[in-house]
Amino acid sequence: MKASRSDDKSRPASMRTAAIHAGTPTNALTGASIPDIAMSTTFVIDPSVAFSADEMNDETPFVYTRWGNPTIRQLEQKLAVLESGEEAVAFGSGMAAIAALLLSELKAGDHLVMSDVVYAAASELANQKLPGLGVEVTRVDASEPENVRAALRPNTRLVYLETPVNPLLRLTDVEAVVKIAHGAGVAVAVDSTFATPVGLRPLELGADYVIQSLTKYICGHGDAVGGALIGRTEAMKRLRTMAIHMGGIMSPFNAWLILRGVATLPIRMAAHEENAFAVARYLEQHPKVTRVMYPGLPSHPQHELAERQMDNFSGMLTFQVEDGPRAAQLLSDRLEIIHYAVSLGHNRTLTCYLLTDDLLRSSFHLTSEQEKAYRAFAGKGVFRFSVGLEDPADLIADLENALAPL
Ligand SMILES: *Cc1c(COP(=O)(O)O)cnc(C)c1O
Repeated sequence: MKASRSDDKSRPASMRTAAIHAGTPTNALTGASIPDIAMSTTFVIDPSVAFSADEMNDETPFVYTRWGNPTIRQLEQKLAVLESGEEAVAFGSGMAAIAALLLSELKAGDHLVMSDVVYAAASELANQKLPGLGVEVTRVDASEPENVRAALRPNTRLVYLETPVNPLLRLTDVEAVVKIAHGAGVAVAVDSTFATPVGLRPLELGADYVIQSLTKYICGHGDAVGGALIGRTEAMKRLRTMAIHMGGIMSPFNAWLILRGVATLPIRMAAHEENAFAVARYLEQHPKVTRVMYPGLPSHPQHELAERQMDNFSGMLTFQVEDGPRAAQLLSDRLEIIHYAVSLGHNRTLTCYLLTDDLLRSSFHLTSEQEKAYRAFAGKGVFRFSVGLEDPADLIADLENALAPL
């Protein structure tokens, strides 16, 4: 599946230039400077073209959009460059990408080591679906790399990480875990949605697969759901076959919206980080706030790792207050600029309260030791706060006013 002209995967020196130029050459026919949307589901072909996913290769022309599409292909090529990967495959959502990865790389008899806290739906998928398919799952606190080593078995196939982790903002030392896993012949996948390639490029640290929910920072405008896997050509071939067979592909229109969003990703991430520092420092001195977690703050327990591993601390933070449920009601009733809503990475600031009881019951299914550790950290719950691109003084004033009665 060739894109129109440029298949150049060499990583340009500058992330800002790559975000705008990589994978999106000028249309040779029309001279259009900006990517076109190719909404066509089918493409006029030669009778000799192969029809099976297994027989497709780089030389196969576009045939049918579930197999490949010029607009989606441009997004894939841009993502591969930004993540320093050989190849990327786009999906209809982050969860479609995660499901394809787990169901493609694991089979009956295999063992998965997964971080005990990960994005809730990924956690539920691993807990509820994989054991029925004969895949054993062990959950570990991967912020301590030795926990990963202790969980490895002869049949372990994959270590699944997320850093910073949703919602705790705990970090994992990707390089250290890769060293342990690769020493045992085990592949490593990293959900890098919170960090984005601007903050962290797991493939450069040796990881085998990167997962991105494009719905979040990479689109950045809260108007398109999408996901992607990035990694080596051989593995991505298997995962593209999975996308073709399971069908969870991206719409070309969403690919176009996300291409439009990703062009400004590096400058947006710089502004998200700047705003997050301002809001985090405000919350740290608020008399009713008991804890703020932001990897950029020296108070983050893994701040040293954050400084070593991340080029940008992103716009995600969490905070806690004594009476979380009451503060949640106040925020939902009184915020005027910030939206009380799920999702993250949008230009608009979003916050919501994540009740510990709900997450432990529905999503995580941890051992009693791990539950204790989660409770010790999160208490009754945490506010997840996705700092947007508004003026930080306006965000702080909105919070100050909403929390005043607390
Ligand atoms: C949102 C999210 C996902 C899932 O992505 P969707 O696009 O909503 O399917 C996966 N991982 C993380 C860390 C996320 O924030």
